[in-house]
Amino acid sequence: MIGHSIDQPHRRRNLLTGEWVLVSPHRMQRPWQGERAPAVSAEQPRHDPECYLCPGNTRAGGMRNPDYAGAWTFPNDFPALLAEAPALPPASPLFQAEPVAGEARVVCYSPDHSLSLATMDDRARLAVVEEWCALSQELGGRWSHVQLFENRGAMMGASSPHPHGQVWASDFVPDRVQREDDEQRRWWETRGKVLLAEVVEAELAEGVRVIAANDHWVALVPYWAAWPFETLIVAREDVRRLEQLSEAARQALAQVLGTLLDACDRLFDTPFPYSMGWHGAPHRLAGDSAHWRLHAHIYPPLLRSAEVRKHMVGFELLAETQRDLTPESAAQRLREML
Ligand code: ZN
Repeated sequence: MIGHSIDQPHRRRNLLTGEWVLVSPHRMQRPWQGERAPAVSAEQPRHDPECYLCPGNTRAGGMRNPDYAGAWTFPNDFPALLAEAPALPPASPLFQAEPVAGEARVVCYSPDHSLSLATMDDRARLAVVEEWCALSQELGGRWSHVQLFENRGAMMGASSPHPHGQVWASDFVPDRVQREDDEQRRWWETRGKVLLAEVVEAELAEGVRVIAANDHWVALVPYWAAWPFETLIVAREDVRRLEQLSEAARQALAQVLGTLLDACDRLFDTPFPYSMGWHGAPHRLAGDSAHWRLHAHIYPPLLRSAEVRKHMVGFELLAETQRDLTPESAAQRLREML
C-alpha cells in the first residue's frame, strides 16, 4: 500500500517515533471561520538599529555584537541549560526529577537583517551549514546530545526576524531523540537495514512525496507527516552526524535547502514560518550509531494560506495527531512551486 490513492480515513505510523497519525482526506472541504493571523510584511531593512542580533548593536545583557561577516555564534544571554548540574533533593517515586547540565548558543546566519535561509545565496547558506557542522563537532565532544534548531516567524515564537537559529547541547538525550534512537535501533536489529535508508530508497522509487533531490540529499513530505507541509531532508549516504558530511555533501545541502525553503515561501506567498532542526546520532552513542541516518525536520504550521494555521488541539491533544490534507497532496503542491 503506498497511500496516495486512499481518500478514506486511515492511520499512518511514524516509523521514527512509533506514533500514529489519523488522516482524514474527505474533510478538506469543510468551511473555515476560525482564527486568521495577520499576514506578515516581508520587507525588512538590511540593518535594523533596534535588532539585538545585527552587527555592532548592543544586546539586552549589555554585550555589543562584533562587526561579524557570514555566520556568527555567541552564548545565549538567557540559556535554558547551565554548564553546572544543580544538586537536587533525593528523588521520590511521586516527584521524579534529575539534574541537568548543558549550554545554549545563538547562531546568526548572516549580518544582513533582511535575509533568511530561503533568500540568501548558496554561498551564504553554505557558511551556515559549515557553522552547524562545526558546532555539532565541538559541542558533541563534551555533551550527550547537540540539538540545532531554528524558529522562523513570530507565529513560531521567533523573538527576532533577524536570520538566526539556536543550539542547545545537553548532558542527557532528549525524549524525542531517544524515541528516534529506539525506533531506528529496533529496525536495524530486526531488519538488518537502516530505517531511513530504506525510506529514502522507497520514496525515490515511488516519487509521489519527493519534492527535491540531488546526489547527497532527498527532501520529501514523510508518509506519516503530522503538520500540513511538514518535510524531511535526509542524507542519502551513510552519514550519522553533521560533522561527517563531505564538502560535496555540504554544498549539496546548501542547494537543496534553498530549493525547498524557496518553494515553501512561494506556496502562500509569505515568509513561511516553521520550526526546523537537525537529528543526528546522539554523541553519547559514540560509535554505536550504525542504525542512524542524519536528517532535518521542518515543521511549518500554515494550513491553507498565510493567515490560516493548524492548531494541535482537541482530538490531537487528547488522543492522536490528525490531518486532512494528505502528505501526497502537500508534496505535489510544494513541487508545483519549484
Ligand atoms: Zn528525527
